[in-house]
Amino acid sequence: MSENPLQLLFKTYEKVSNSIQTQLAQFIGVIPKVHSSHNNNDDHHSFSLLTSSSSSKNQLASTMLLQHSESPKKEKSSSPVTKEELGRATWTFLHTLGAQYPDKPTRQQRKDVKELMAILSRMYPCNECADHFKEVLRANPVQAGSQAEFSQWLCHVHNVVNRSLSKPKFPCDRVDARWGKLDCEQRACDLQGTDKFWF
Ligand code: FAD
Repeated sequence: MSENPLQLLFKTYEKVSNSIQTQLAQFIGVIPKVHSSHNNNDDHHSFSLLTSSSSSKNQLASTMLLQHSESPKKEKSSSPVTKEELGRATWTFLHTLGAQYPDKPTRQQRKDVKELMAILSRMYPCNECADHFKEVLRANPVQAGSQAEFSQWLCHVHNVVNRSLSKPKFPCDRVDARWGKLDCEQRACDLQGTDKFWF
C-alpha cells in the first residue's frame, strides 16, 4: 500500500531535522556520538534529549546555538578584573586563612603570615591599594599569636581599609559567623603543624 503523502513529507522533514541536529551537535562539540549512543546507558541523558520529539530537538538546537552565540558574553568574564573584584577575592582569601589559622600556630606559621602581609603590601596588584596597605600595616603590626587574634586583627585592618573607602564598619564579633572554617572532609584542609611542631 502506498504511503500517505503527508506521512512521507513528515518523514522527510524528520530526516532533515535529524541531520541538522547531528551536524549542529558535532559542530558545537557539546554532545558527541549522538546516534551511536542509543544503547549506552551512560549517555542516556543526552540520548533522550536528542531522540525525543522533533520540537524538543529544535529546542535543544536553539539552546545549543544560544550557548554558542553567547560565547562572546563568556569572554566578558575573562575581561580585566576590576579593583573591587580583586579586593573581594583577596579579602576572601585572607579571612579564610584567618578562619583556618591554627589556635596554636608554629613559630614558622606566625613568621609566614607576617611575611605574607608584608609581601601583599609590596606585591598587591593595585599600586594605590598596596601603598595604602603599607601604611595600614605600619600602624597595625600583624597579630597572629592564635586563630582568634589573627582573625580579629584581619577584621580590624579590613575595617581600616573600609573606613578609608567610606564603607561601613564590619562588626568583628561576627567575623567567625561570616568566615567559617572550610567545609573539608576529615579536616583535610586544616593547616599543618599545629600540634606536632608548636614550640
Ligand atoms: P569587601 O571590602 O571586598 O569585603 C568583602 C566581604 O567581606 C564583604 O561583603 C563583607 O561580607 C566582608 N567584610 C567586610 N568588612 C569586613 C571586615 N572588617 N572583617 C571581615 N569581613 C568583612 N580598594 C581601593 O579602592 N583602594 C584601596 O586602597 C584598597 N586597598 C585594599 C587593600 C587590600 C589589602 C585589599 C585586600 C583590598 C583593597 N581594596 C582597595 C579593595 C577594597 O577593600 C574592597 O575589596 C573593594 O572595594 C570591594 O568592596 P566590597 O564592598 O565588595 O567588599
